[in-house]
Amino acid sequence: MIKKLIRKILGTKSKAARDTNTPVVLGPDAHGIDPRLLSNNAVRVTSTLQEAGYEAFVVGGAVRDLLLGVKPKDFDIATNATPEQVKRLFRRAFIIGKRFQIVHVMFGQDLLEVTTFRGTTSANAPKDEHGRVLRDNTFGSQAEDAERRDFTINAMYYNPANQQVLDYHGGIEDIRAKTLRIIGVPEARYREDPVRMLRVVRFAAKLKFSIEPETGAPIKVMAPLINNVPAARVFDEMLKLLMSGHALACLQQLRKEGLHHGLLPLLDVVLEQPLGVKFVTLALDSTDARIHAGKTVSPGFLFASLLWHQVLEKWTAYRASGEQTIPALHLAADDVLDSQTEKLALQRKIGTDMRDIWSMQPRFERRTGKAPHKLLEHLRFRAGYDFLLLRCASGEIDAEIGDWWTAFYEGDEITREELIASAGRPAGGGGGNSGEGGSGTGGAKRKRGPRRGGRNRSGRGEGADSPAPAHDGGAD
Ligand code: ATP
Ligand code: MG
Repeated sequence: MIKKLIRKILGTKSKAARDTNTPVVLGPDAHGIDPRLLSNNAVRVTSTLQEAGYEAFVVGGAVRDLLLGVKPKDFDIATNATPEQVKRLFRRAFIIGKRFQIVHVMFGQDLLEVTTFRGTTSANAPKDEHGRVLRDNTFGSQAEDAERRDFTINAMYYNPANQQVLDYHGGIEDIRAKTLRIIGVPEARYREDPVRMLRVVRFAAKLKFSIEPETGAPIKVMAPLINNVPAARVFDEMLKLLMSGHALACLQQLRKEGLHHGLLPLLDVVLEQPLGVKFVTLALDSTDARIHAGKTVSPGFLFASLLWHQVLEKWTAYRASGEQTIPALHLAADDVLDSQTEKLALQRKIGTDMRDIWSMQPRFERRTGKAPHKLLEHLRFRAGYDFLLLRCASGEIDAEIGDWWTAFYEGDEITREELIASAGRPAGGGGGNSGEGGSGTGGAKRKRGPRRGGRNRSGRGEGADSPAPAHDGGAD
């Protein structure tokens, strides 16, 4: 207790004593960054800028990751050159953004974001009625740039030329203590930009850092401010969270911080619907595993999984009210997509992918005649099939149907014909009438007429329906 008190006093003192206008400078022996973790292109950008007489540093998450000994997934560069000045130095450079211009510098597929040091904002910047900063377009010094970043561990600058780290806010100490600490007064920083609350959660879960108490304290009370943030921004941040490789941990942390309720209808659905928990857990687990294995994950697949149980519920209700299986599924999908797009700004392409994956599900139950071959040719078969396997694994439908499709998918022509023949035989448990969950109805009722409306309603989004690889499956 006394120790804690002393630490608190000392901590406050050292914080107060820290001059945030002058950085602590650390050489390679002090910070221990392995220069091999840097990308050549990042060094190319900083050295080009420096040779032209500007200051240039690797900044933000990349420095944090370098200090943690992790290879950064991308590199942001901060400079005192203006966007125009940066653009002139590189062959493929594009100024983007209206609110705050940044420059995208491309080398082949590699994209680096170059940002001019930003000035401190809050005083004069235009804000909405809740205090959220709307525009923020002033340039400033490096010290000011550091001050307006979110967390101490995200506010360090690394100069590859002399291998020095500049630390304005005690980020090094916090990295060593595995602490997530917001820069400045927490309430004020969340008010300026409520998305920072989501970022706390993401970094805490991803880095396994603890949230410094003052940084964490206001979140529960201030959480509703996220509702005033434009949906597209929340969506971007949610996507980062779900694709962080620690999605499950992030969602658990969200719940712990009281950030799930009312934040996004999606999270209410995902975290408060007991039936879907097993399914969602499996989906997130497999997403995390794919990310750790360096594989791609499609947002469409991810959101289709997160919302599946909501679709199931509505699908059952529509069928109970007399709709046929397939139209009922489309009505359910419409409802769910409509309610989510408004709040979540689901992009059209993602919505189309989700609908494709969902609408394929009843087709897996038709295992006779030409139907299985046709389904195999579907552009997004792999995504639909992976989804089917998740449904089996969660116990929603019988594992037999998944096994059948695996054998069919992997089998040669003879095996496939045998499988189709066996599915037609009643004793084989065929037809895929797979019990409860509302979805196992199609198989035995093959006598329905031809499907209406051509391929299905997802065909409406033809433009977005390009032959992109679906979800790349669980096994590739
Ligand atoms: P990741 O590894 O997940 O990309 P990151 O820290 O690089 O993490 P980005 O969203 O890429 O996160 O942001 C880059 C940097 O920009 C951050 O490290 C931080 O310094 C700053 N930043 C990003 N978002 C905010 C914000 N909402 N408020 C203040 N600073 C921010
Ligand atoms: Mg980043």
